[in-house]
Formats: sequence, C-alpha cells, structure tokens
Amino acid sequence: MGYVDLHLHTTASDGALTPSEIVRYAKNKGLQAIAITDHDTIEGLEEGLLEGEKVGFEVIPGIEISAEHSPGSMHLLGFFIDTHHPLLKERLGYLQRARADRNPKIAEKLRQLGVDITFEEVLKVSGGGQVGRPHFAQVLLEKGYVRGFQEAFERFLKKGAPAYVEKVRFSAEESIRFINEANGVAVLAHPNTLHMNGYSELENVMLRLVKKGLRGIEVYYPEHSALDVAQYKNLAERHGLLVTGGTDYHGIEMNGLDIGVGRGEMRLPYSMVENLRGARRFSP
Ligand SMILES: [Zn+2]
Ligand SMILES: [Zn+2]
Repeated sequence: MGYVDLHLHTTASDGALTPSEIVRYAKNKGLQAIAITDHDTIEGLEEGLLEGEKVGFEVIPGIEISAEHSPGSMHLLGFFIDTHHPLLKERLGYLQRARADRNPKIAEKLRQLGVDITFEEVLKVSGGGQVGRPHFAQVLLEKGYVRGFQEAFERFLKKGAPAYVEKVRFSAEESIRFINEANGVAVLAHPNTLHMNGYSELENVMLRLVKKGLRGIEVYYPEHSALDVAQYKNLAERHGLLVTGGTDYHGIEMNGLDIGVGRGEMRLPYSMVENLRGARRFSP
C-alpha cells in the first residue's frame, strides 16, 4: 500500500499546478491517493476527479474553509464532500462573492492613500486564479511603492494597516455544518495556527467543535513540531477523533517541501483515507 497526501492546493485557489497537473504529479511520485483541498472553493474538483479517473488514480474531493477565529486562524478541511450539494454551493458562492467585493475595496483604499493602482492591474498579475493580497503586494512592488512583500503588508495590507478590508467568514460551527450537510467529514487543519495556550485550551476548543460535528484533527503537517504531533495524536486518541495529515503543498517547491513527503519526514498511510471514507454520514 502506498502513501497519501490529504492537503493540497491547485490553481483553483492559490496553488501553482492545475488540478490535472497535481493529480499526474502525485501519481508520478508514487502516491496512492490525494485530497484536493482548495481554499473556500470546489472549482478545481471536477477537473481533478476526471483526471484521476483518466489516469487511474484516487482523488478525494475536499475543501479547506477559513473560519472566524482570533487571534490566529482556523482552517477546516472537508473530505469526501458532495460537490453538487446545494447548501455547499450556496455557502461557497457567498464566500466567493464576498472575496470578489473585497479586492476592489482594497484597491479603492490604496488610491485614497495616494497609491496609483487599479484593480485591473492586480487582476493581471493574479494570472486568473483567486485574487489575494499577495497580488496587491506584487503591484506595489513593481510600481516602486515598497521594496518587498513584507513592507507591502506592514505598511498597507496587513490586518490593522490602512488599506486592510475585513474578510467575510463563516463561524467554525457554520462551516462544519455545511461540510456535514454535503456528506463531508470535517477535520481541523493545522491546529498550531489557532495559537492556543497549551493543551487544555486546545482541548476545550476541540470539544466545542466536536459537539458541532467535527470528526478529526490534522495531526501530520510540515509545520508541526514533534511535540505538536504527539499532543494532537493524544487528543485524537482521547476523544476518538480521526487522524489526518498532509503537506499543504502549493505546487512550487518551498524550503524543500514536496507533495507526499513534506520535508522528507512524512509517510501517511492509506488507512487514513479508509477511516475518512467510513466516517461519512451516508455511503453513496
Ligand atoms: Zn490552511
Ligand atoms: Zn491549505
């Protein structure tokens, strides 16, 4: 049995490979299955699933939802989602529209600050995928307003900076609800970004989410320390939660990170997929 990678992005969100490309790449690397988990969108799934069928490779339809959380960030993975479910489609459509509204607002704020920038210029550098703040940073850099991405975020784009526009997000409860409604299995992604104060605080948050239908925890992740992994595994065992893992690979090699293996340390067994499959509410 081969290994799996259950956290990947494509050009449908902020990845560099198309869904077909990432499927072929995973197959060539000798993996047995992958989940495509783009941010707040299922746009890449149809292509990925079709390519999987074509080349004989298992692709799990997934998603990664950004939920409301402060001060860190909370991402929820949904596995085996029914991509045709009306509620899922409606909720994601709402997020996409909010995102589309947000970007012109950022451009407007920048103009009010005296920056010569149009939303069209930002669209152009985005190359057709989801538009985000890094694309604004790119234009600011090209036009000489800043010397680097960090300065662009510090001076203009980060939360609290003068061109920041609040993101529209669903609560964790709502996100878990529509993942479940679409027969998906909801899993808390990379818990270290929640910035919890220790084990018991994380446990409390987890238990609150489990009551709302959360089923698992992403234990294996490139940015987790050995201590993190041990803690999350323990949490999963204590509360009967599923364990998943993935590299969050975005299609470009960054600091030696690659699909399936992370920075060389990851070997995620296929049983993770079987456990997720078995946890669905209905088996279609
Ligand atoms: Zn994430
Ligand atoms: Zn991700």
